[in-house]
Amino acid sequence: MFILVINCGSSSLKFQLISLPERTVAAKGLVERIGLGGDAMFKMSYGETKLPSSPIKASNHTEAVSYVIEALKKDVLKEGQKIDAFGHRVVHGGEKFFSSAVIDDDVLKCIEECGKLAPLHNPANMAGIVACQKAAPGVPNVAVFDTAFHQTMPPKAFQYALPYKFYKENGIRRYGFHGTSHKFVTRAYAEMSGKPLDEVNIVVCHLGNGSSITCVKGGKCVDTSMGLTPLAGVVMGTRSGDIDPAIVLYMIENLGIAPAEVNKILNKQSGFLGVSEVSSDMRDVEGAAEGGNAQAKLVLEMTAYSIAKYVGSYVSLLPKTDAIVFTAGIGENSAEMREWVCGNLAGLGLELGEKNRERGFAGCVSAPSSKIPVWVIPTNEELMIALETYELVSK
Ligand code: AMP
Repeated sequence: MFILVINCGSSSLKFQLISLPERTVAAKGLVERIGLGGDAMFKMSYGETKLPSSPIKASNHTEAVSYVIEALKKDVLKEGQKIDAFGHRVVHGGEKFFSSAVIDDDVLKCIEECGKLAPLHNPANMAGIVACQKAAPGVPNVAVFDTAFHQTMPPKAFQYALPYKFYKENGIRRYGFHGTSHKFVTRAYAEMSGKPLDEVNIVVCHLGNGSSITCVKGGKCVDTSMGLTPLAGVVMGTRSGDIDPAIVLYMIENLGIAPAEVNKILNKQSGFLGVSEVSSDMRDVEGAAEGGNAQAKLVLEMTAYSIAKYVGSYVSLLPKTDAIVFTAGIGENSAEMREWVCGNLAGLGLELGEKNRERGFAGCVSAPSSKIPVWVIPTNEELMIALETYELVSK
C-alpha cells in the first residue's frame, strides 16, 4: 500500500510517498512558495534520481497537491500502483484527539475549532487536507496530531495554576507538541530493547530547531516540556523556552513594545539566535563557540542546563528509568550536546561511552558503568504518520 504523507505549512507542502508494510520511501519532495505570487518551486527525489528545484504553476495547495500526484504517477508509481491513502501532520488536536483519526466532516470541523490554539499551523494543515480531498476524491485521509501522544498526561501535569475558568472556558492548559516523534521513539526503544511497550519508562529528548523533553511511564506520556504552545520548555533555535511570564508584561508595560512584537521576539528572535547573535542553527553556534565566541558558548551552556533540569526532574518522577533517549537534528548528531547535558546531571551517575562519538550510531551510547543507560534513536515522524494511516485505513 502507498501512503502519501503530507506536511503543509502556510506556503509549503512537504511530502513522502511511503510503501507499507515494507516501510520504504518511494519518493520525497517539497513544494515551496505556494500562493506568494509568481511561480511555486518544486523538487523531488526517488531512487537514485534527484530532480533539482524548478518553477511550477501552483497558486494554492490544491494545485500543489495535484501537481505532486501527477508527478508521482508519471515518475514513481508503476502500472497498477496508486496512492491508497493520505496521512496528514496536524499540529493541534486540542483535547478532542487522543489518537489519529480518519478524516470526515466532523473531524475536519474539530480540526478547524482547534485552530484557535494553533492559528499559524492548523489552517495550513487543513488546506492540505481539503486539497487532497479535492484532488483525489474517494482516497481516505488520516489526521495524525502532534498533541495526541501527550493526551495521557494527568491533570496535575497539564493544568496551569490560573483561575480554573481559563481552562474550562478557553482551553488554556499544557498540550505538548512533537508527539508523533516522542511516540515513534518510544516504540522504537521498545522494539530495540525488547521491552514490552507498556513497561517502557524513559525520558525522550527531542532536540531540533524546536525541542521538547517528554517523560514516558508505562509507554505513555505523563509530562512534557512544551505547553499551551511550542514556546515553552528548553532553550531552542529561535524560541526562548521557559521565562518568567512577568517579562512579557514588563516588555509591554515598561518598555512599550507592542504585543505582536513581543510575540516575534520570543518566538523568532530568542534562543540560540538571540543570545549568541550568530545563528539559530546549532552547527553555526557550535562553530562560533569553538572559535572563541563567548555568547555562543554561553547559549550552549544555557541550552544544556535547561535540558538537564527537565531530564533530572523527569528521571526523579519515574520509579526506575530504563533510558534517557536523544533524538532529532541536535539530539542525534551533536555528541557534544549529549555530553554537556549528561555532564550537568552529576547526581544521576551518567557515563557516556565510545559509541557517543560514533556518527550515525543508533542504540545505547553510554558506558556499561552508567547508572542510567543513554540512547540515541533517530526519529522518523513521516514513517510514524504513514504507520498510523496504514493502521487506520487497513481496518
Ligand atoms: P531538526 O529540527 O530535527 O531538523 O534539527 C535541526 C537542528 O539540528 C539544527 O539546529 C541543526 O544545526 C542541528 N544539527 C543537524 N546536524 C547537526 C550536527 N551534525 N551537529 C550539530 N547539530 C546538528
